[in-house]
Amino acid sequence: MNVITVNTSSKQYDVCIGFGVLSELQSKLDSLVPKVSKILIITDDQVAPLYLEEVRLNCSKTNKVEHYIIPHGEKSKSFAIYENCLTYCFDVQLDRNSLIIALGGGVVGDLAGFVAATYMRGIRFIQLPTTLLAHDSAIGGKVAINLPKAKNIVGAFYQPELVLYELSFLTSLPIEEWRSGFAEISKEAMISSNDNLSWLMDHILSLEELNNELVEKCVTMGISVKNEIVSRDERETGERAFLNLGHTLGHAIEAYLGYAKTTHGEAIAFGTLFSIYLSEQFFKVDLKFNEIVNWYNRLNYPVYSNLELDPIINLMKQDKKNIDLKIKYILLKSFGHPVICELEEDFIKENLDSFLK
Ligand code: NAD
Ligand code: ZN
Repeated sequence: MNVITVNTSSKQYDVCIGFGVLSELQSKLDSLVPKVSKILIITDDQVAPLYLEEVRLNCSKTNKVEHYIIPHGEKSKSFAIYENCLTYCFDVQLDRNSLIIALGGGVVGDLAGFVAATYMRGIRFIQLPTTLLAHDSAIGGKVAINLPKAKNIVGAFYQPELVLYELSFLTSLPIEEWRSGFAEISKEAMISSNDNLSWLMDHILSLEELNNELVEKCVTMGISVKNEIVSRDERETGERAFLNLGHTLGHAIEAYLGYAKTTHGEAIAFGTLFSIYLSEQFFKVDLKFNEIVNWYNRLNYPVYSNLELDPIINLMKQDKKNIDLKIKYILLKSFGHPVICELEEDFIKENLDSFLK
């Protein structure tokens, strides 16, 4: 088991990563002060049949445990489902000493975290991530729901008591969800160091045949990088924005294709490739663009070559990070040296045109 301690202005908590860490849940719960009065597990309808019972068994010795199951998918980060969850919290009489367990991917984590942040002005919660992408969403304390017109626009910074990352849960993940989560891990490697990236490129040659040791190393690397950045910039006033490498184009692709047509990470992987391409043009540096394209191809990342330039550029301009007409872009001077640049729209357009060819 690997343990990473997260230090934030409001709380210090552990992230326990490994195969078999779920067995720690009961003792961790028992050590919480004040004593937990009641537990509500929030999960989705795809995760529940797989893991709800196992989690209940690992936390019901000294606690009364309720559960609430939401439909899977991004649509559940809505006001309607949020209200249903809060109503359920009230109906089962959660009080200030109760605790919510978020059992699922980023959707459950973001929603259940926001429920915990706001029910009775905030009750405690624990993250039990079940997707690879949730190595990103479960760390850092951002919890949120969506408005129909804008993702993650209603939320809070709210830290969990604990993150228990039971890696055996990942065995049932579909391959596109592995690709989605791994895109963020490779992004974290690129912004942190050349060594991290080289290690990944040497060891991860297929996402179908990862052994336990490699999964644990990748997840631990991703979480360590995210934790280091977030601990220096909890509220995203500066370097936390580096975690958005690849996201300007990635978000535009998600919006252009419709969120159900691609996973977040697969769109981000394509966006990351473009960021590397742009960085090479902008800084006149060699970032091994072709090698990374070949690596991503080998891992079967999709290529979105039929994008229309103007709608994509317009979507990029809507990004909330932009000022005036320039587009804010995360580029790399080298691996481990990300920078925020304000780029002219025409420069991006010309390069996107040649990148897509
Ligand atoms: P998700 O929660 O929708 O999970 C993806 C799919 O996998 C779902 O259908 C789910 O039911 C299924 N699933 C989950 N665990 C499974 C398992 N072990 N076996 C089989 N199927 C399983 O999506 P996600 O990719 O985990 O998270 C995406 C969300 O995370 C987005 O809403 C995004 O905004 C959010 N996010 C938040 C942050 C943050 O800092 N808070 C960071 C990144 C992403
Ligand atoms: Zn992302």
